[in-house]
Amino acid sequence: MALATITNLHKSFGENTVLDGIDLQIEKGEIVVILGPSGSGKSTLLRCLNFLETPELGVIDIAGQSVDAATSHTKDILALRRHTAFVFQNYALFKNKTALGNITEALTVVKGMAAPVAEGIAMDILKSVGLADRRDAWPSELSGGQQQRIGIGRAMALDADLMLFDEPTSALDPEKVYEVLDLMKQLARQKRTMIIVTHEIPFAREVADRIIFMDGGKIIEQGMPEQVLDAPQDSRTQTFLRQVLS
Ligand code: ADP
Ligand code: MG
Repeated sequence: MALATITNLHKSFGENTVLDGIDLQIEKGEIVVILGPSGSGKSTLLRCLNFLETPELGVIDIAGQSVDAATSHTKDILALRRHTAFVFQNYALFKNKTALGNITEALTVVKGMAAPVAEGIAMDILKSVGLADRRDAWPSELSGGQQQRIGIGRAMALDADLMLFDEPTSALDPEKVYEVLDLMKQLARQKRTMIIVTHEIPFAREVADRIIFMDGGKIIEQGMPEQVLDAPQDSRTQTFLRQVLS
């Protein structure tokens, strides 16, 4: 059975239909990259998966926790959220917490761990994101790449079934992009299940099991990286790839 099943997802903002019937299944261990032009609904799709945005219609099932948008209860939404971990474009770190504190927080507040235990685990995660030596730094003292590695560390701490990445490198200086992509490749090797919105095409080619191209709130086409990147079928995919690769 698929790890996640999304059925007939619809979302509008006023008159603007942003998700127009999305159906999607994600297998455990699968790495799915979503491509698409600005405004095509990629962020909204990720945010609807854990009800950061509330869809009007649709059913989301992650790791056996199902929520129907039409009848959703807060309790089920909170339970669904526990199965996901979100990495934001702008890191969304707590500015008044240190590097270590940002990761510890995920463990104490979300997972209910005792502080000493949480700190031990957070320290191991800091090591694996390569920032053990910055444990006491404030976010304002860290580069964008370092802040995003903390953001990813926080998501790792949640140890969720499904990790959601919304353009994790698009706010970074070009020379910092690789350090975040390298960390994500490390997660890919661990077979974490991930949905990644990115415009980094070589990265997508290397790590994705499947690439999905979205436009106008719909999945236009999907397939293995070679299929979608080298032999796109739809003219919208062809145009998009020409633009991002030029
Ligand atoms: P993408 O991530 O592909 O660039 P988004 O999902 O962010 O696209 O946005 C899709 C459309 O939804 C855009 O037209 C955007 O203006 C609109 N939109 C997104 N979030 C909101 C919001 N909170 N309120 C109103 N409109 C929104
Ligand atoms: Mg977006």
